[in-house]
Amino acid sequence: MSSATKNCNRCKGAFVFTDVEIVCGSCGVVSDEKIVDCSVDYENIGMEINGGRTGPPANPMYHNGVASEISQTGRDASGRNLRGENKSMMNRLITWDKRGKSSGTKTRNISNLEITRIAEVLSISEQTKQRGAKIFRMCEGFKMLRGRSAKVFSAACLYAACRESGLSKTLTDFSKVGFFRRQDLAAYYRLIVRVCDIKTKVVSPISYVSRIASNVDPPLSVAIQKSAIKLLEKLNDSKAGKDPIAFAAAALYHVCQSKNLRHTQRVMGMAAGVTEVTIRNRINDIRKELCIEEKFKIEQ
Ligand SMILES: [Zn+2]
Repeated sequence: MSSATKNCNRCKGAFVFTDVEIVCGSCGVVSDEKIVDCSVDYENIGMEINGGRTGPPANPMYHNGVASEISQTGRDASGRNLRGENKSMMNRLITWDKRGKSSGTKTRNISNLEITRIAEVLSISEQTKQRGAKIFRMCEGFKMLRGRSAKVFSAACLYAACRESGLSKTLTDFSKVGFFRRQDLAAYYRLIVRVCDIKTKVVSPISYVSRIASNVDPPLSVAIQKSAIKLLEKLNDSKAGKDPIAFAAAALYHVCQSKNLRHTQRVMGMAAGVTEVTIRNRINDIRKELCIEEKFKIEQ
């Protein structure tokens, strides 16, 4: 189809341009199929070096050479053993394939696998997953992986990506899925945030309420969750700089107490993954602020 004609040849109807084809709006004749993806690669805008690339944006989870791996079975596609000149040629190819790959390929493979696995278990979105992989590449660039576990480090990168997008996933979640110490993960995470200059969002305690409520045994009703959220919205001063999970648990406990439910602080702490002492402190904070509010009302 020549691009000059804007109307259908058969019925003179207007064309509809979709991503893959050009269709007549009235009779439905497919006028042309676009084969080339003309969308702009947004990753490279402003960068003259790699500019001019078409197609969808590059995925940091995959890079050249990771997807292809020459098997070492010594057999061809139909399963017959390789012999003679073919065999020696394949051996040479395998050797040069190994040499050609950069030294970081193995680490990157481990990190990709670990990031994908954790993201699957914790149901983290594709976008956050890719951001995690990108942070890992950044850390590689800063040579931060020397003497550190690649598995834990990739988990910390994914956690940093979660914090950046404001997802309410906890360090405990990650350490449970990844089978490593929470302290290691926290230390790596702090390092990543500092070196890569990642802007983390403050997670609101409200986003943890429903999760803690369903973890408690027996689970708390939606009405209690709603009043806990209302309570958290009301509190302003005491929230600053405190662990949001403990705050959510404390608010739930406070609501339970006011409705004569016998959930202990220990049960709340276990459901939220924090200690009893922390919850007790937060409860005291909440009670203090509520007291001040009531006094203020009476004075008025
Ligand atoms: Zn037509």
